[in-house]
Amino acid sequence: MIKEWVIGVGVAVLIFLLILGYNVLPLFFLVALSVALWVMLDRRSMIPPAHREPAVRHPVTFDQIGGQEHAKRELMEALDFLRYRDKIKALGIRPLKGILLTGPPGTGKTLMAKAAATYTDSVFLAASGSEFVEMYVGVGAQRVRDLFRRARMLAKKENKDSAIVFIDEIDVVGAKRGQHSHQEYDQTLNQLLTEMDGMSTTQSPFILVIAATNRPDILDAALLRPGRFDRQIRVDLPDKDGRLHILKILAEGKPLSPDVDLEHIARETYGFSGAQLEALVNEAAIIALRNDKKVIEPWMFRDAIDKVLMGEKTGRKPTDEELARVAVHEVGHAVVSELMRPGSVSHITIAPRGNALGFVRQIPDTDRYLYTREQLEQQINIALAGCLAEELHYGNRSTGAQNDFVQASRLARTMVVCGLSRIGIVDEEHLPESVLDTEIRHILSEQERVTRELLRPYIQDIAAFAKTVVERESVSGDEFRAWFARARQTAQDESHRLPLAGATAAT
Ligand code: ADP
Ligand code: MG
Ligand code: ZN
Repeated sequence: MIKEWVIGVGVAVLIFLLILGYNVLPLFFLVALSVALWVMLDRRSMIPPAHREPAVRHPVTFDQIGGQEHAKRELMEALDFLRYRDKIKALGIRPLKGILLTGPPGTGKTLMAKAAATYTDSVFLAASGSEFVEMYVGVGAQRVRDLFRRARMLAKKENKDSAIVFIDEIDVVGAKRGQHSHQEYDQTLNQLLTEMDGMSTTQSPFILVIAATNRPDILDAALLRPGRFDRQIRVDLPDKDGRLHILKILAEGKPLSPDVDLEHIARETYGFSGAQLEALVNEAAIIALRNDKKVIEPWMFRDAIDKVLMGEKTGRKPTDEELARVAVHEVGHAVVSELMRPGSVSHITIAPRGNALGFVRQIPDTDRYLYTREQLEQQINIALAGCLAEELHYGNRSTGAQNDFVQASRLARTMVVCGLSRIGIVDEEHLPESVLDTEIRHILSEQERVTRELLRPYIQDIAAFAKTVVERESVSGDEFRAWFARARQTAQDESHRLPLAGATAAT
């Protein structure tokens, strides 16, 4: 407010002087110089810019965090050190000063730190590693000092005897020292370590530092030493039950139509983080609003999943010819997916979204952590099926399969480095790039052949069904399966009449 006012008056005075015939150029420079100085000082100021409002307005509790049972339990156990400080003191146990939460983004690390503050009745302050990184040497360290000072002040003000300082993206300042060209990082890290070393159990308020990162491997060993971040808690992507739990929490108080099946949504959202699930529920509600509906219906969740996975629908308008090709491509994926794992196709869509012109969404069977060679090969078959359907139908391929190839190569690579390829057990570190390359090529060309034979009996049906997909833009898995069951029947009848000599069985 004041800033605008001052600028306004300044400009007015300058213009006035100009009208009176004064030479305003020197004055103008003077003003510009002081503005520049002011901005610089402001940037160097001791108050970190982002988190000036420290207190949590809506206290987060552990009940609001879905899944993560293991991480929650471990964290609560650690926090009991803080809750029962007297006992800890009496036994002479070294206080816990730092907890490191590791895991992918959006899994609820920030949420956990906030819940920790509620659980221990502490004040909560947050900062992010990137805020400590400045052009000016010394600012980062100053901000660290300031953060701890503010934590103490705030605790006093709110009459609490503990504070939780949350540092997100700790890897930005906590990466191994001497790795950056920049000594600023090192100073900041040193300051953080100094602050933590200075803390003691007798001190009031007591400060617990919770830090989060998804790159624990690059952290400086000094950070992980006893007395610093000596507890590491892993916060992973939620499994199916975890997703269901999170969805239930997120859907609370939202008007869902009775036929929305959260269990089904949890199954379809394999690999989603808590934050993605949050986005999903929010998107579904927005779709309801756009359609002027009072409740959120199942199809809105389906669209929202597509959106979170693939991005917003784009305005791109493929030509009819392109649409037909995309449909053939996608039905190709769907056919092989269904052959490999019946019931796996969730739906087929050819509305452009994000970078894709169309896609088949699959229902993951269960959350998996291990794959056999056959399962990996099947996934390669599904990935290659799009381009091969195009090839069989049109006699040529298009550029639309680039992502599929990236995916197939990644799967083939996994096979090789996990010792599931023809060269057997390998040491990934000492595997020559050329050998790896040859093996990947071998696997891909082998699977290309298998996939082609899988598709061949269905190619006419695929072309016919692709027309339906073009007309309808999106076809559900159930409709697809009903059609595919008939196609399969005919294909089988025909194969009885014309036995394929020595061909791979198409089942
Ligand atoms: P992180 O710090 O791990 O990146 P956040 O805690 O910032 O993740 O999560 C971002 C948002 O995602 C939260 O505000 C919440 O809405 C949602 N979320 C993430 N994980 C969970 C979870 N386990 N339970 C409930 N909501 C979650
Ligand atoms: Mg976060
Ligand atoms: Zn494809």
